[in-house]
Amino acid sequence: MVVSYSGIAGRRGKNPTKIVIHNDGGSKNAKASFYKSWLENHNPELGFAHYYVAEDGTYQAEADGNSAWHCANSVGNRDYLGIEVCQSLGSESVFKANEQKAFKLAATLCKKYKLNPSVAIFPLHRELSSTDCPHRSFALHGKAIVAVKNYYVEQVKKYFGSTSSGSSSSAGSSLAKNTKPLKDGKVGDLVKVYDALYRDSTGAGRSTAKRGKQGRIKRIVANSKKYLVEDWGWAHPNDLQLIKRATGSTSVKLPAGFSKEEATFVNGDTQITTRTNKPSLKGTVGKALKPHEKVAYLGWKVSEGYTWIYTKDKRYIPVRLVGKAAWGTFK
Ligand SMILES: [Zn+2]
Repeated sequence: MVVSYSGIAGRRGKNPTKIVIHNDGGSKNAKASFYKSWLENHNPELGFAHYYVAEDGTYQAEADGNSAWHCANSVGNRDYLGIEVCQSLGSESVFKANEQKAFKLAATLCKKYKLNPSVAIFPLHRELSSTDCPHRSFALHGKAIVAVKNYYVEQVKKYFGSTSSGSSSSAGSSLAKNTKPLKDGKVGDLVKVYDALYRDSTGAGRSTAKRGKQGRIKRIVANSKKYLVEDWGWAHPNDLQLIKRATGSTSVKLPAGFSKEEATFVNGDTQITTRTNKPSLKGTVGKALKPHEKVAYLGWKVSEGYTWIYTKDKRYIPVRLVGKAAWGTFK
């Protein structure tokens, strides 16, 4: 790695707090080697990021501990790392490969600086200043700020190693890893036994006799094999796959046209009017979202020029004008 600058935009004196993944707006020829020579022959005040990720490798223009002029936002320039995904006007396959390298780099940086990958850690450049950056990622991954940030988080997590401990596959088992472990299982959910069940919830008495069978969750406890399936035995989330959610439970259905995204919106300092029957300014007014109030939501949709979230308590809440900064933060 080459570093061309050393604190020209300021020395931060602390670890970076967020990461901005940019699109360079450059042609297929705007590779890492190009940026290296370009940056070294131009005024850095024209702008530069910490990293340039391209087909020919990754070029680091500035050390992580220093600031960079990459997002036209004083806090962002000072405290956030900037990664340029290069060749964003070139072919889609090259751009996507560059993106993946950038996500891998972002995962490494998250680990290094103890940043837990979440939408709060990956602001988009367009949220920080007036720009269409990251234009290509935006077009490819949902055409909405929430969707693109969510995609970034999901992709970075892939490299971060999001699933921690608790794999239940035992030595000698040739079973492929369960790619759809049971998340947030509820009593009554119909599940398929993907791998093993245990005689007790702490993990004694492993048996694969019920592998492939379907049954219902009867109890959930706080141990590692937390789900009791029928009266057969206890399972770790990795041992099960969801077939059908329990009906009549507390699970709320997402209205038509909404993209699934379960997260929390934290309102800014202005109250927001909510709607109870549809994502529309003409909808029936519901309980207002107070300044700084948190609300859990299940999905989002663009309607009437706003991005709306649909909350767990069945309210439709606009959270931003499309293309503009959100009126709060997402967690
Ligand atoms: Zn940018």
